[in-house]
Amino acid sequence: MTVAFPFDNSYARLPDRFFTRQAPVPVSAPKLIAINTPLAERLGLSLPNDDADLAEIFAGNTLPDGATPLAQVYAGHQFGGWSPQLGDGRAVMLGEVVAPDGARFDIQLKGAGQTPYSRMGDGRAWLGPVLREYIVSEAMAALGIPTTRALAAVETGDIVLREGRMPGAIVTRVAASHIRVGTFQFFAARQDTEALQALLDHTIARHYPGAEGPSGLLNAVIGAQAKLIAAWMGVGFIHGVMNTDNMTLSGETIDYGPCAFMDAYHPEMVFSSIDHGGRYAYANQPQIGAWNLAQLATALLPLMPDRDAAIEEFTEAVNGFAGRFDAEWHGVLRAKLGLASEEDGDAALAFDLLNRMAQGGADFTQTFRLLSSPTPDRAAEAFAAPAPFAPWLEEWRARLTKDGLPEARRVAMMQAANPALIPRNHRVEEAIQAALGGDYAPFHRLNSALQDPFTDRADIADLQLAPRQDERVTQTFCGT
Ligand code: AMP
Ligand code: MG
Repeated sequence: MTVAFPFDNSYARLPDRFFTRQAPVPVSAPKLIAINTPLAERLGLSLPNDDADLAEIFAGNTLPDGATPLAQVYAGHQFGGWSPQLGDGRAVMLGEVVAPDGARFDIQLKGAGQTPYSRMGDGRAWLGPVLREYIVSEAMAALGIPTTRALAAVETGDIVLREGRMPGAIVTRVAASHIRVGTFQFFAARQDTEALQALLDHTIARHYPGAEGPSGLLNAVIGAQAKLIAAWMGVGFIHGVMNTDNMTLSGETIDYGPCAFMDAYHPEMVFSSIDHGGRYAYANQPQIGAWNLAQLATALLPLMPDRDAAIEEFTEAVNGFAGRFDAEWHGVLRAKLGLASEEDGDAALAFDLLNRMAQGGADFTQTFRLLSSPTPDRAAEAFAAPAPFAPWLEEWRARLTKDGLPEARRVAMMQAANPALIPRNHRVEEAIQAALGGDYAPFHRLNSALQDPFTDRADIADLQLAPRQDERVTQTFCGT
């Protein structure tokens, strides 16, 4: 079997020190779990119909014609600590496909075997994190949030040693690019200005064609990240591992390791088992975003002609993140509250609700979804403990009256901003557990339901429910 992808591998044309050429390490008995047909169509891929052939391709056993497999090198700050060399330790990029509309996408196999950047790792992934990434990244896409996508998932037929003997798996990740803040940091730390300049040119051409020089790029990325983090927070998403190597220049969400959606709202919520200090807690995400952008700014400095002037300019740009984030976040909150107009007190009104939700252990998704109806007082049902919700409702109603949007339009606006369905942790975990027992039905059902997150549907009402006390999943793992 041969298959050809419409590749044009621009990253592979960059200087050798950007990557190591590395083929995926073959696996013993690949089996297809899922293929994302709508995404394959969007990319303009013509794929074989046979599941066994698909499994061979997306396990890395058969390379599509035109692939130039490689592992990218990068560096990064992990939990604030500097790692001068990271890189694709368990991922191999096959190449970039150019879709029929001209958009360019990396195709990467995650879990494809050891590379020179694997350090102590085995280069593999097990089934749990693969299914988690598939479900959550596709859910994010359906929620309209910039993200890498999942094109396929396969079982490898090999055992991976983690806390026990786990089935190995590979997820095919599709991304606008895999260029990270850490990619810039890698070359800056080595004082390799020539590579840094090549990376800058490549990134601008690829993601921000109008941007001028390092300042233009920095400003564009600050804007993209402000928008992205506000969008995350609007759906209760906690990334969990916002290291600089996990922040893209494209503004897409990347690296679905210990991420989670909150059930009950709390600003200090943390799920990741390794985030002891709460560095990447829900409400810390904008501050961490700014911190990461400061690292990007630092990495870009060597490209500026006047270092002192550049420090001043970049400091101002990074300091400007807070205001740009607030503007995005307040916009998200206004949409969630069904406000078409803009008034000074709107953010305060939203924060007042969030405070009451934190006090009352209110389910984040359900509170806003129930508010998005002709009977918004039902949102009280989303509160675990009686909290002073009624007085807030009165204030909000008064604000709505001033806003003047007809009821039906308000409801439509709110239902498009407040999903009925998110990938709840306990459902993701349940799908993984069933798959470990050989039953993929819950995975497919959850995945399919999540493609339509803004509609109330009786047939998936169970997936919308908040977890009962005994169903709660409070910790997530990197899964490496
Ligand atoms: P992450 O926490 O997923 O951002 O990964 C951090 C670094 O560890 C990256 O350089 C990964 O490529 C590497 N890594 C994670 N898991 C493995 C593994 N199983 N084998 C080799 N390298 C890994
Ligand atoms: Mg990573």
